[in-house]
Amino acid sequence: MNIDKEARQIAENIYSKKTSKEEVFRFFHSRAKKVDSYLKSFVEMYDNFTPVNGDSSLGGLPIAIKDNICIEGKRITCASKILSTHVSAYDSEVVRRLKKAGLIIFGTTNMDEFAFGSSTENSCYGPTRNPWDTSRVAGGSSGGSAAAVAARLVPFALGSDTGGSIRQPCAFCGVVGFKPTYGRVSRYGLVAFGSSLDQIGPITTSIADSAHLLNIICGFDRRDSTSVKKDVPDFTKSLSSEGKKFTIGIPQEYFGAGLNEEIRAAIEKVISLYKKNNIKIAEVSLPHTEYAVAAYYIIASSEASSNLQRFDGIKYGLREPSRNLEELYCRTRKIGFGDEVKRRIFLGTYSLSSGYYEAYYIKALKARRLIRNDFNEVFKSVDAILTPTTPTPAFKIGEKKDDPLSMYLSDIYTISVNLAGIPAVSLPCGFTKSNLPISFQLIGKEFDEETLLSLGSTYQSCTDFHKKVPPLR
Ligand code: GLN
Repeated sequence: MNIDKEARQIAENIYSKKTSKEEVFRFFHSRAKKVDSYLKSFVEMYDNFTPVNGDSSLGGLPIAIKDNICIEGKRITCASKILSTHVSAYDSEVVRRLKKAGLIIFGTTNMDEFAFGSSTENSCYGPTRNPWDTSRVAGGSSGGSAAAVAARLVPFALGSDTGGSIRQPCAFCGVVGFKPTYGRVSRYGLVAFGSSLDQIGPITTSIADSAHLLNIICGFDRRDSTSVKKDVPDFTKSLSSEGKKFTIGIPQEYFGAGLNEEIRAAIEKVISLYKKNNIKIAEVSLPHTEYAVAAYYIIASSEASSNLQRFDGIKYGLREPSRNLEELYCRTRKIGFGDEVKRRIFLGTYSLSSGYYEAYYIKALKARRLIRNDFNEVFKSVDAILTPTTPTPAFKIGEKKDDPLSMYLSDIYTISVNLAGIPAVSLPCGFTKSNLPISFQLIGKEFDEETLLSLGSTYQSCTDFHKKVPPLR
């Protein structure tokens, strides 16, 4: 088998009996066993080939699942010591849909603990390495899923994105990461981080594979109260922009100081390519962008501090021996949570506490509204917005670990999208001189994933950055 095939091409080979489901599984399994001994993108890999009944355009393909999405009967740990022994009692809605479509759950992938982070260094299993340069981070928090797909250890994966956790690691690893509109994909069975921001999405090598996977995972689910009852189109029909007239907005706020020059140059080439393809380019402004990081870290941490109260040593995973109930809570949480998790709980509890609630939490919600209004205004005149995904390429392991603020700033271009609840996709568009992937981001209107797929496929039909495979031992 060939590692440079996209997922649906492998699926076609299964369908036309050029290869079998078991052969595909064995191929990825033995490759992953070998390569992941040093990449560390998986938390667990399931060794037995168990075909599922069910079919779709992707039937028979293995898929990796971020370790914060429930798979019945399997360990779900969120890369946290506090959950390290916890087994899911049920399937998340996305996993139920994948199984129904005939996909094979291949294993769970590494992440920052509870998805707090941008490098996968905040994992109780240690960091995942970037397949393009193993001294560098894979990004985060879905770093395991992004690295595994980039290294072709699995044809595709699912991640979750609260402030950039699908798009940022995909940008660092040179693969496609899609964050759907809030409410498009059910969060049932996703361990909650920031419930008003979280969204599950596909991590793939091509935009076409994203469309196929979105067809399976999108749709209303009554078990998620924020799931939206809206028709799901056949996303594969959007994989071309032929006959369509698009205008792309370029927001000046995303091209200021702090943007790496090699990334800036690569994005300019993307813009020229679109122009050549008769897509109109317009300068736009999103004036409240500067408040996004601050507002996000207050809102996300507030929601996280509330969501994480359930990990108390009683219901799930770890329980530290103690003399009384209060000591049990304290000891379990002290030993079970890592430093970044504690930092978020402190930050969130503080901004929700009486006396500070108005000054921080309510103020952050107001900033969120202004950021959303900015997008609504711009989308009156453009169909999509183009930005870099990250201000820099992948950084070194350890480089930002003790500097939370500089770590938080690596999400500066991805966070506003979650605050506004709109869809966005990151696509590879080049390499730095030292051969690290560079990516751009396309941001769309609410429930308009289709325009992103069209524009993404236009780009990928003219370029082959997404076809490059990292040179692995
Ligand atoms: N890096 C951001 C954070 O640490 C976003 C994480 C995410 O999207 N899960 O909160």
